[in-house]
Amino acid sequence: MKVLVVNVGSTSVKYNLYEMDTEERLAVGRAERMGTPDAVHVHESGQVAVDGSSVVNAMKAILEHLTRPGGPLPDPSALGAVGHRVVHGGEQLIAPTKIDDRTLAVIDECARFAPLHNPVNAAGVRAAREVFPGVPHVAVFDTAFHAALPPHAFTYALPHELYTKQGVRRYGFHGPSHQFMALSAAEYLKTDLSRLKLVTCHLGGGASVTAIDGGISVETSMGMTPLEGLVMGTRSGDLDPAIPLILAESGMSFDAIDTLLNKQSGLAGLSGRGADFRDIQQAAEAGDKRARLAVDVFVHRIRKYIGAYAAVLGGADAIVFTGGIGENSALVRSRVCEHLLYMGIALDEAANGTLRAADHGGIVEVSLPRSPTKVLVVRTDEERMIAREVVRAIAGSTGAIRSVRARPIPVGVSVRHVHLSRADADVLFGPGYELTKKRDVTQPGQYVTRETVDVIGPKGEITDVAIIVPLRKQSQVELAKTDAFKLGVSPPLRESGKLEGTPGITLRGPAGTVTTQGGVILAHRHVHMSPAQATDYGVADKDMIKVRVEGDREMTMGDVIVRVHPEYTLDLHIDTDEANAAGLNNDSVVAFDGLQ
Ligand code: ADP
Repeated sequence: MKVLVVNVGSTSVKYNLYEMDTEERLAVGRAERMGTPDAVHVHESGQVAVDGSSVVNAMKAILEHLTRPGGPLPDPSALGAVGHRVVHGGEQLIAPTKIDDRTLAVIDECARFAPLHNPVNAAGVRAAREVFPGVPHVAVFDTAFHAALPPHAFTYALPHELYTKQGVRRYGFHGPSHQFMALSAAEYLKTDLSRLKLVTCHLGGGASVTAIDGGISVETSMGMTPLEGLVMGTRSGDLDPAIPLILAESGMSFDAIDTLLNKQSGLAGLSGRGADFRDIQQAAEAGDKRARLAVDVFVHRIRKYIGAYAAVLGGADAIVFTGGIGENSALVRSRVCEHLLYMGIALDEAANGTLRAADHGGIVEVSLPRSPTKVLVVRTDEERMIAREVVRAIAGSTGAIRSVRARPIPVGVSVRHVHLSRADADVLFGPGYELTKKRDVTQPGQYVTRETVDVIGPKGEITDVAIIVPLRKQSQVELAKTDAFKLGVSPPLRESGKLEGTPGITLRGPAGTVTTQGGVILAHRHVHMSPAQATDYGVADKDMIKVRVEGDREMTMGDVIVRVHPEYTLDLHIDTDEANAAGLNNDSVVAFDGLQ
């Protein structure tokens, strides 16, 4: 399918044409200096004057160019969709959306949050619908990737009515870039995105940082508007909210303050040398004090956010940099990562100084092999990301949110195991015996011990059964039905910890034998997830869901209990009988198939 992605700004119309079967880019160009007599259409083979008095004219020129003989789109009806970058989708448009009049009305309504962007984006949509009729148009929002932010991250500490009545909250921006970085990092690290904790830094003219947990944005530095957060080219980012009030009181007009914060601050305001980071970096290296301060403030703010977001995530698997500065300035990456060894970040200065993402398929690793947290540099491609989202929206699975919903759930097969109480551990291994760690299991803080116990039932016994700690109030033995037959017990299907009325069993350790009064269960299958993942799937703790199993033993598993906790990693827990019946192992994934 061919997808045309357009990005309409106040003075430009940028476009990219993709063949999405291969993701090959067939054309790229832009009409610029729109609204002036000097408007031009710049394309692969040169530039021509264009009537810049309306976006419709620019779109017509683009259509003409693409459909020229020998051009990439000889037949306009071969176009599958037009994707539009729209900055603000508010709380209603939280996924890529096929555009109809109702959608356009909401985009217009969201202009109150993004007065500089949404009106021009909407004008672009209207123009494109006129010039490309009969083709689906899809809006992809900068805010959508952050739609699953949890309330504690998106809520400002203002009177609550401001949120409920006026939508004053954090929305976040640069969504396609953060999403692209996350997908690139997962592909590079060969790890399912649902298992990764990432801090992604988009450092361009605008700049933002996002904490991504299992593919979901859980915190981001830009706020209700793109003014909050990092120091940017001309935007201040974070400051004491009293400052604009004091400026107003001292006589500055609303417009002057708006211009000050959005256009005269940031790197430009600090350095006095404009917003181009290359110039500022050069001046700083030549000893210019203000330029140095600008770089220092810029870098310090990024470090502060990375530290904060590592805390939000409980540690990060990778820090990812992109944007004109993030991708190109080795100095910024080096300064940001300085002295972060305690956090597990060890930059490879040589790689950082020489490797370029553009020369290595769009992504390079610039941390040392021993660095537990990887540092990656990505060449971001927001247009490609938008095109992917358009394809998903057209396919009916309306984009970002839904596509994350369709994202696979990793499987963890629980082999029979025992949880012990302190008292039973004392009998089995000797008073006060400290069990030792063999390996971690997927849920944080739990591990399998080197020690094992034998489980003895009326009909048979199973030796060397694994123990999982921490210790619990009451011992619990989790078996598969096949194990229960072998032992000659008949435990019920139960959630972990719900042990009333369950049968007991005999456990044998090196120091002694204990017969429990209860605690043997067949563990009820369940899926662990974080609150953000639950919000994203639209489920809550204790809900029952279905999951779909694909492959040789295709089936749908119902009665899967959802268990939500901030420390949980997305994981479906089933026992060995269930895994074997469904042909699943620890490398398998299943798909979320809705609430029961
Ligand atoms: P935008 O957010 O406007 O799309 P970009 O992502 O292209 O902007 O980033 C622009 C910024 O990147 C500018 O400040 C530019 O100076 C900076 N930049 C580009 N190349 C380099 C480089 N080699 N070293 C440092 N900064 C760079």
